[in-house]
Amino acid sequence: MNNLVKIIALVALIIYTSSCTNKVEDDSFSFAFLTDIHLTPDNNAVDGLRQALEKVDSIKADFIITGGDQIMDALGQSYERADSLYNLYIEETSGLDIDIYNTMGNHEIYGWYPESHADSLNPEYGKGMFRKRISDTYYTFEYKGWKFYILDSVKKAGKRKYRGYIDSTQLAWIKKDLENVSSETPIIISSHIPFISSWTQIREGSTMPNHEGLIVVNSKEVLEAFAGHNLKLVLQGHLHILEDIYIRDIHFITAGAVSAAWWKGPYDQTEEGFLKINCSGNDFSWEYIDYGWNVE
Ligand SMILES: [Zn+2]
Repeated sequence: MNNLVKIIALVALIIYTSSCTNKVEDDSFSFAFLTDIHLTPDNNAVDGLRQALEKVDSIKADFIITGGDQIMDALGQSYERADSLYNLYIEETSGLDIDIYNTMGNHEIYGWYPESHADSLNPEYGKGMFRKRISDTYYTFEYKGWKFYILDSVKKAGKRKYRGYIDSTQLAWIKKDLENVSSETPIIISSHIPFISSWTQIREGSTMPNHEGLIVVNSKEVLEAFAGHNLKLVLQGHLHILEDIYIRDIHFITAGAVSAAWWKGPYDQTEEGFLKINCSGNDFSWEYIDYGWNVE
């Protein structure tokens, strides 16, 4: 081999090796899961959210998923109040250089509580406000070979009540969508109301049942729809606690709260924070990031 051929071979080898390395790096990504922000003009919540978003920027997350209850609140408020909180949330998050996939929580639902005096014929009544201003209440997207299901876990159950529930229309949609998903594709669900949690048992005793406003009452049925698929993780909010239950190869993580105790300090030993999820290949790891907010 003359020298020129050797050099060409070496350059080709370097290019090949670096493209392989890039390929491996390309598979991995990270995202931030911010739940229970409960944005309000009060309690310095706007500054708190800004600080959380600055932290997300500094850790170079590829995108954000919110876990619901982005605002405080629309359930029992006048139209003007609910409208202004939606506007505040959109204003604080729309100029960012990062995609946000929002999950709907109970507090995004306009007028279900009688004290709101909402007109039920208003197209924004109930989940209409979220649909009009943010997105569908449930949808799916893909990122680097991972599949995400953002679910609507809130169902009306009486005058001043809701319960955790994935309704039959949504369940049928999930089953249909999964027909085109490979059994190997790693899947992550985001559900505001948890599928599985030990919170009631740890607080009230090991034989105590969950209240239906705290948990998705038909999560067993939903999980059965994912049988035979590679469901890795169910991201959960609503409870403001940090919890990781690992069973049948699925993690059920309740991810604290950006607002902790509704912007009044830590809640049940959980600081203001959010999850950072690192995905690589078929695996993920997580950490809870206390973004440094303290009530003054
Ligand atoms: Zn909630």
